[in-house]
Amino acid sequence: MQVVMFPSMEESHTKCLIIGSGPAGYTAAIYASRAALDPILYEGLQPGGQLTTTTVIENFPGYPEGVDANQLMADMRAQAVNLGADVRPGYVTAVDLSQRPFRITVDGSETVLADTLIVATGATARYLGLPSEEKFRGMGVSACATCDGFFYRGKDVAVVGGGDTACEEAVYLAQLCRKVYMIVRRNVLRASRAMQERVMKTANIEMLWECQTQEVLGDAGGVTGVRLVRKDGTVFDKPLDGFFLAIGHEPQSGLFKEWLATDAEGYILTEGKSSRTSVEGVFAAGDVQDPQYRQAIAAAGSGCRAALDAERYLLSKI
Ligand code: NDP
Repeated sequence: MQVVMFPSMEESHTKCLIIGSGPAGYTAAIYASRAALDPILYEGLQPGGQLTTTTVIENFPGYPEGVDANQLMADMRAQAVNLGADVRPGYVTAVDLSQRPFRITVDGSETVLADTLIVATGATARYLGLPSEEKFRGMGVSACATCDGFFYRGKDVAVVGGGDTACEEAVYLAQLCRKVYMIVRRNVLRASRAMQERVMKTANIEMLWECQTQEVLGDAGGVTGVRLVRKDGTVFDKPLDGFFLAIGHEPQSGLFKEWLATDAEGYILTEGKSSRTSVEGVFAAGDVQDPQYRQAIAAAGSGCRAALDAERYLLSKI
């Protein structure tokens, strides 16, 4: 007897499914809508993406005075919706790319069938991996100064890292806090010259060069300090109220590792200048495929490319 499978009641079918609601996802939705692909976009756990954890964006073209990051993301979302994108809350929990259309599971239950898939899941902050850091996460340990800095007004904090993010966060925190230490593992900053100069000009930022964090210290009330080890082996403690991580990001590609080729760090590999992944009909955009530039405008541009690639792919199948 032949068993015929009918789609369940919850199943919907789209020409283009977009996962992620940062600049890449929304821009892909804008372009896919205009190309009449009737895209469905799932927003994920952090609607608006990483930018919603920051304040003012000064380097997104078109805003001479800068733009509030949350407003920028709300505007991108509204633009996508106005053009016809079906923007839905929901977290994609599984993908099956072995069959066409692709099967995407949302929130563990709902299934959506998609002819093309645009992965724009972004990246998240990296932690040092210390048990003490995990223990005090949310109790003085944070990876977002602009989200949590407010709680440390007039207090002493440290920022780990020497990149642009660390410098930006240190300068931001210096406006609120009494003292900001930058814990830098080398004797140089990786950050751009402009950011380095801003750090050096800020009186209440103190550099702790060639230092690594051994342990985050704390009690029932949260973080009380940090134990550091210098390159020469000297171990010392710094009393602190807050401990901020700014040591880079990890691509959110775990869901796709079984299906898509990634580099050693988990960034999804794309073909040449295109957004094509190792699976035909699946495209990647934004920080999940970009270890290098990781800027809102770069992500938006790659979202545009992914939608154009999806459109061309569908046309090639007619
Ligand atoms: P980066 O990768 O540039 O810098 C990470 C920093 O963390 C480095 O100083 C690195 O040290 C340090 N680090 C990494 N792992 C550890 C560890 N285990 N212990 C201690 N320190 C560690 O990340 P960012 O998030 O700063 O920046 C990412 C990208 O985004 C960059 O291209 C940056 O230019 C860009 N950016 C641009 C901004 C802007 O233009 N306004 C703002 C913020 C970011 P080491 O140097 O020794 O490797």
